Amino acid sequence: MIKGLGPRYCPSIEDKVNRFPDRTSHQLFVEPEGSDCGRSYVNGFSSSLPAEVQEEAMRTLPGFRDAEILRFGYAVEYDSVRATQLKPTLELKAIPGLYFAGQVNGTSGYEEAAAQGLVAGANAGLKLLGREPLILGRAEAYAGVMADDLTTIDIDEPYRMFTSRAEHRLLLRQDNVEARLLPLGVRLGLVGEEQRERFLASRERLAAARTALRATSVAPETINPALEERGEKPIPEKCRLFELARRSDPPMDLMLSLAGAPELTLFEKTELWADELYGGFRERQERAVERQERAEKLRIPDDVDYFALKTISIEARQALSKARPATMGQARRVAGVRATDLAALLYELTRRRDPSARA
Ligand SMILES: Cc1cc2nc3c(=O)[nH]c(=O)nc-3n(C[C@H](O)[C@H](O)[C@H](O)COP(=O)(O)OP(=O)(O)OC[C@H]3O[C@@H](n4cnc5c(N)ncnc54)[C@H](O)[C@@H]3O)c2cc1C
Repeated sequence: MIKGLGPRYCPSIEDKVNRFPDRTSHQLFVEPEGSDCGRSYVNGFSSSLPAEVQEEAMRTLPGFRDAEILRFGYAVEYDSVRATQLKPTLELKAIPGLYFAGQVNGTSGYEEAAAQGLVAGANAGLKLLGREPLILGRAEAYAGVMADDLTTIDIDEPYRMFTSRAEHRLLLRQDNVEARLLPLGVRLGLVGEEQRERFLASRERLAAARTALRATSVAPETINPALEERGEKPIPEKCRLFELARRSDPPMDLMLSLAGAPELTLFEKTELWADELYGGFRERQERAVERQERAEKLRIPDDVDYFALKTISIEARQALSKARPATMGQARRVAGVRATDLAALLYELTRRRDPSARA
């Protein structure tokens, strides 16, 4: 009886049977709700079928012949707004000062809702203070990827913030979250003094540890037993400790102690190691991001009349009028906009700034 389409990644049991007719079984997890209460949650059996059908189906499961359903499954349907009507600040383009965040924008998930709440809330505050808006870049934060996707792509099913949606995953790591975002939080007044000081002290420790690892050499007899114990290749001759940090499983604790580095937290050790391990790739990615950002950050004025831009395809004119991207980067991601349209748009924008400019 449900008309709406369920999300692809957590289908009901009837959806699974329908969508995967070739499967002869589906995995269920029986999760006890207490050590001796006798109640269990049957994970993977979500359903909106009539109660008697749920009961009958449940009793066909091995071990569930006499089970009783205490609360029947039900379906939830949501209405959502078209998030392409929003700016990347999550402010409605048509009604300045009105912000949307969370599931109402077509997402599903706790983190998705929380991150949008942060972006929308911070922007509402910044607007009241007359300050620059908070627009997180796609190479800066997953929240930036999400806000950008939601406001430029017409989504037709619940949006989840899969890591695979981000093109700069080497930069968006959990261990470097403070390095990426804390200075911004401080600038915006979202981070307190105590956290700021903790962060600065942590940066100092990390810098001291890096210097110590670079300055200290280690002899094979000192480090090889620890390397061999971890299945790592022994070193044939003396080498600098930081070179070992580029291995997949280096003995970081021993290396830091040999270098006389300050004590680091687990997060700091991971950041130090990941920065060395992925250093070359990261630098390449950072350079690519810089190039892309220079082009992508070019702002598109709010009042561009796309229908007046005859050099752009009709499809792109319609799509851009609807999405009203704030930057060239967003324009690039609007469905229906081709590279030739972007080149024409760039030309028009440059000409607007400087009417004498040629392509
Ligand atoms: C059964 C179920 C299981 C889920 N499991 C997970 C999970 O395991 N992991 C995960 O990440 N996500 C899960 N989700 C999704 C997740 O719960 C939601 O996407 C997320 O909580 C949405 O948060 P939100 O703040 O956007 O909306 P909500 O939490 O729905 O908040 C909206 C609030 O607005 C209130 N409200 C509505 N209308 C008005 C009005 N007119 N005036 C005043 N208040 C109003 C509502 O009462 C509600 O409190 C699950 C969802 C369901 C239904």
